[in-house]
Amino acid sequence: MSRDFRVPRCVAGLSLFVVLAFRAVETSAASPPNIVFLFTDDHAAHSMSCYGSKINKTPHLDRIASGGMRFDRCYVTNSLCGPSRATILTGKHSHANGFRQNGDKFDGSQVTFPKLLQQGGYQTAVIGKWHLETDPTGFDHWDILIGQGPYYNPPMIANGERVKREGYTTEVIGDLAMEWLDKKRDPNKPFLLMCQHKAPHREWQPGPKYFDLYKDETIPEPPTLFLDHAQLGKAAQVQTLSIEKNMTELDLKLTPPKNLTPTQAEAWHKAYDSENAAFLAANLTGKELVRWKYQRYIKDYLRCVAAVDDQVGRLLDWIEKSGQADNTIVVYASDQGFFLGDHGWFDKRFMYEPCYRTPFLVKWPGKTKPGSVSNDLVSNLDFAQTFLAAAGVQADPSMQGVSLLPLLEGKRPADWRKSLYYHYYEFPGAHDVHRHYGVKTARYKLLHYYHLGDWELFDAEQDPLDTKNVYHDPAYAEARKELETELARLRKHYQDPDDPKPESKVKKN
Ligand code: CA
Repeated sequence: MSRDFRVPRCVAGLSLFVVLAFRAVETSAASPPNIVFLFTDDHAAHSMSCYGSKINKTPHLDRIASGGMRFDRCYVTNSLCGPSRATILTGKHSHANGFRQNGDKFDGSQVTFPKLLQQGGYQTAVIGKWHLETDPTGFDHWDILIGQGPYYNPPMIANGERVKREGYTTEVIGDLAMEWLDKKRDPNKPFLLMCQHKAPHREWQPGPKYFDLYKDETIPEPPTLFLDHAQLGKAAQVQTLSIEKNMTELDLKLTPPKNLTPTQAEAWHKAYDSENAAFLAANLTGKELVRWKYQRYIKDYLRCVAAVDDQVGRLLDWIEKSGQADNTIVVYASDQGFFLGDHGWFDKRFMYEPCYRTPFLVKWPGKTKPGSVSNDLVSNLDFAQTFLAAAGVQADPSMQGVSLLPLLEGKRPADWRKSLYYHYYEFPGAHDVHRHYGVKTARYKLLHYYHLGDWELFDAEQDPLDTKNVYHDPAYAEARKELETELARLRKHYQDPDDPKPESKVKKN
């Protein structure tokens, strides 16, 4: 009898295949989402058309915004490259993760969200700019620039091996990300891909494809290009972020980068030499000279952004064609914003709106409503817990942010946070911005330059770009008092210790 019920081996194999295939479909429907984290360096939201840019268009970044949620009030904990990255990985403020300023060494033994995702069954990869001094941990695959990395022909470190790559760095990083997705990924696992561009960091060197972009155009100037800094506090009087005073010949392309191939050098000279000759002959001075520098700077910055936008487009196309779009979260963010001539400046560091705010877009089909906008106070401190929550992986109790999942799902909690804490440390250091901490609420910012003994207060309702310090205005006495109390509460809540004044650079005998 039993013989009659025996299933031939080939049929049994087929049945098993059918069962497994069915399970695979079942699993994929409920499987954790892939996370593609697209990240740039120094890309201000006001140079993205989805954020209302008046100076450029970013059609591919706009695809993420129109398909998902745009956060209009995303701020960083410390407006600087390395510290922002450390905060994103750990979900902790700089004092808690130990990376306060560029040049610090990231302690890779601490808990990070990629490590937790990896332990939770994700395949994890980081490609591009890392900038944390120590080797990445928690990644199955890493292929990173060394330090800042150059815009052309970047030497990189791939899983510990030094490799030299030729080409324009933004495109090299795009190629490596595509190659990982196509050939190195384990299709049986959900993945985290962190694709992190160097662009549009200083010195804003465009790729050969982009030299002609904006060539015959005049980019609109920001309304604060010639701001009177006497309206601001003491720190603004001594900074060295000035377009007028602090740009180098390399920034302005009066000298070419040193590491170009002969073909790249030829294209570079063709792009800049005649313009440079005309500039030198014109012998500009005063405001006209500032205007020329602004145009040279902003065009190159926007050319770098255009290359990023194109690479984002390639990745979005891959996701759409892969059939995984419905189960892939696409995130776009920068490590902080930037002064795009605002206040007459370039660079970042201050807790001022143009560089304190960072772009943050999240497209998650089935969760984020296409074209939606959040005005809630969110931070790069929240990214780690958000990605872990999306993956269904438990966050670490030491993390100091908040999962943004309820906001992404359109279920805003009534008691959402009312304030954010900031702390910048890199002084003495590049661009001479004094150390400060501060609190941001929906309407105000209060900044304390604790070693300088100075305070600033800004009212976003009257002054959205932070151009006029009203700390000493009696009309704001009550607001000032409330903000000082809130700042003290946040410092205690995050257990941020007093920051001793660093010893003078002058060595003692
Ligand atoms: Ca940066």
